[in-house]
Amino acid sequence: MVDEFLNDMGRREQSNRTDINRMGESTRAVHGGANRTKAHHSLTEPIVQTATFTFRNTQDVIDYMEATIYGEGTEREEYGRYGNPTVNAVERKLAALDGGEDAVLFSSGMAAVTTTLLAILPAGAHIIMTDDCYRRTRQFAQTFLKRFGIETTVVPMGDYEAMEAAIIPKTTRVLISESPTNPYLRVADLEQFAAIGKKHKVLTLIDSTFATPINQRPLDWGVDLVTHSATKYLGGHNDLLAGVVVGRADRVKALRDARGILGAIIDPHAASLLDRGLKTLGVRVGQHNANAMAVAQFLEHHPAIDRVWYPGLPSHPDYGVASMQMNGYGGVVTFAVKGDLKVTSDFIDRLRIPYIAPSLGGVESLIEQPALISYYDKTTEEREALGMRDNLVRFAVGIEDTDDLLDDLEQALSGVPAYKDHLRGLSTLWEARFRN
Ligand SMILES: *Cc1c(COP(=O)(O)O)cnc(C)c1O
Repeated sequence: MVDEFLNDMGRREQSNRTDINRMGESTRAVHGGANRTKAHHSLTEPIVQTATFTFRNTQDVIDYMEATIYGEGTEREEYGRYGNPTVNAVERKLAALDGGEDAVLFSSGMAAVTTTLLAILPAGAHIIMTDDCYRRTRQFAQTFLKRFGIETTVVPMGDYEAMEAAIIPKTTRVLISESPTNPYLRVADLEQFAAIGKKHKVLTLIDSTFATPINQRPLDWGVDLVTHSATKYLGGHNDLLAGVVVGRADRVKALRDARGILGAIIDPHAASLLDRGLKTLGVRVGQHNANAMAVAQFLEHHPAIDRVWYPGLPSHPDYGVASMQMNGYGGVVTFAVKGDLKVTSDFIDRLRIPYIAPSLGGVESLIEQPALISYYDKTTEEREALGMRDNLVRFAVGIEDTDDLLDDLEQALSGVPAYKDHLRGLSTLWEARFRN
């Protein structure tokens, strides 16, 4: 009787989830993956704070083993490293948001990337990644994976001929790219990227952290796996670390099995914070997009600014592809100040709203000088070689009021010598005209 009732409820939950998954992205962000009926009639997903799960008796153990090993699986859990109901609910929501069959959460974005690569690569394999990628991802490939005889080829972002040419038949196993990239916000042509993978039977993986599923859904373009550092926009409040991989159910299951061995699981509390953050993803990303666009447009013609990189500006090399495949251009704006390391640092120190910090994607605006935060140990020349100029600034625009952010930038830029010279030039011109 009870089992029949539960089965019926389970079926209704399944069809409810399927219906929600066809709805808009903010509806999915709020309701996606959730069971309508939760323990104790709780509206929110309860935090199941337990390391392990109990069995009523030996028959219960046997039923569980039969179902998981020989059957179709079951929704109950066995041990915290293999799964947790709070974590599972957030995974279902993330799968719904990215349009994938399943998702698996990890303790950080790097845990997601490293576990995935360790799970899918045999010894002696070859991988290809694009340049301008997260420094730790490249470091992992070039140091750790190299120890297992896995070679990495780095190809220039946007050069699909180079990518295809770098494929070694039967040896290249995965193509990895970020989109948009950090810090130049290059956008991969996902259709071309996925097509190269399909043609050569190589798995494709996109790190979509900077875009979020609101702005871009790589699976829709044929990409095999999507990963996010959920620490950024998905969590959205700079208060947790998490990572996720989304894709076809069988691939995700293999990653979940790998997580059970490698152990990079997320704590149920962090998963609950992530769930809470996700509910406002649609509205937050909308405001990030609008603010960043306003900031990019304001900076682009500012006399104290040398150059702006934002995929929503026609001056960006990937404006065309971004406009075609993205619903918004994201919350990060990169720019170069007219001046050296010190002029740029002084400008940053004059800002009142953004905090100086690495990371991005939270409600608070964060600003950093990559030369100091990520490349402090390098000389100016070495940084130039890596494409990191001393005057480069990465502005992770938050969700504050647009006008306040623009006013703050203007007051801080007014101290830049190039701007002062420009203003002095204008006033001399004005005075001369006045005298005539
Ligand atoms: C932050 C970040 C990561 C790493 O994520 P963590 O959660 O910090 O481990 C990976 N990729 C990109 C693009 C990131 O921005």
